[in-house]
Amino acid sequence: MKFHYLKTKKISALALATIMVGSVSLSACSEESKDSTKSSSEVTTTLENATSATEEPSVTTTEATAEATTQATTEATTESTTETETTMTVSDWHDVVQYEEIELDGDKDHYVETTDFCYIESEKYVLFFEKDMKIPGDFVTNLDAIVDEIEKQLGIVACPEGADYGEVMNKKLYYGGYNPWENCNIGNKIQIFFAVDRKPEGWISCATSEGATFVEYELYSDEAWNLIYPSDEDAWRRRDYIDYSIFVHELTHSITLRHSNLSKILCEGIAEYMGYSVIQSLADQYPSIGVIYESESYFDYSIPEAINADNAERIFLEDFNQIKHANRGAEYTVGKYFYQFLHEKYGADFYADLSQAISEKNLQDAYQEYDENLEKQYVSVCKEVFGENVFTEFGNWCVENNFLQEVY
Ligand SMILES: [Zn+2]
Repeated sequence: MKFHYLKTKKISALALATIMVGSVSLSACSEESKDSTKSSSEVTTTLENATSATEEPSVTTTEATAEATTQATTEATTESTTETETTMTVSDWHDVVQYEEIELDGDKDHYVETTDFCYIESEKYVLFFEKDMKIPGDFVTNLDAIVDEIEKQLGIVACPEGADYGEVMNKKLYYGGYNPWENCNIGNKIQIFFAVDRKPEGWISCATSEGATFVEYELYSDEAWNLIYPSDEDAWRRRDYIDYSIFVHELTHSITLRHSNLSKILCEGIAEYMGYSVIQSLADQYPSIGVIYESESYFDYSIPEAINADNAERIFLEDFNQIKHANRGAEYTVGKYFYQFLHEKYGADFYADLSQAISEKNLQDAYQEYDENLEKQYVSVCKEVFGENVFTEFGNWCVENNFLQEVY
């Protein structure tokens, strides 16, 4: 499989992720990429808090926020011993929830406009909406296909058996200080929130192992959009289609982080790789996803040095730790090609085997704080799984295919 990335100046999305270790949370975030004629001030990060209600969706241009990824493997084990209790909690959330479930009719040209908090439950996730959103009729059809395809391509499940991610995250800072989903526990389903950035403050989509939050202008009602951005000068912010590649990117973060921690390159790389390959696989069958594929708005972010056999391992080890959050992008692109290489050379189990090895060694999060010793452990795991020469082979593959050779 070859990528055909256009170096377009079209507005696209760059997803940035941050992960947390220990008791905090992880957030994988999207930023608006820089359009040559627009401000780059929206390079922002939204902080998610997985465990408490005290954190704010901070917006910063300087650093990735960290969060903690849930130790899914450990939790799954723990929870399995209290299965009865967990099952009861999950079934009870419908009795607790204060808002109504809405239905979509499957037609991409029909829309439901939300007038209050509401939700849609699917097999593997629950969508939590707020008011002033315009949801196309095929939205759940498309998200179901995306989650299934991520699972298929990565060989891991979206909802690890026995895992319980606790009470639905408190998103009160997106919702004016109110927690609409208080006391709801949806078990191991992915928690997917939608928010309208009314001020606006530059919120961006992001993800944790528990779930993801999407701030996507295309899902705002027209009325809300026109109130927030009344000037025609802001029209460029809103596409006339939904960019499902952002949903693939963030949901890949949630699904992968449920199985293991990752380094920056490994974390963003797999989200980027899936952001293309999942869309490619679904484009023919799902018209609204096909629009993204045909837009060909994929491109490579700049990298500081061309990759070859001599430097590939060092670059992986350094994990672009010196690049400021606001200027990130290299880890996305290098990681994307690294996974493409692994997929081509190693086959369909490329991700599942890597994830399992990282999990078995209980490697800690290498995203937020740079730790050379920890990064060395990630290097070792890659060599154990893919062979001692995996990095030199990757460097040679890049040169042979003219990937990651242009520095700009
Ligand atoms: Zn990301």
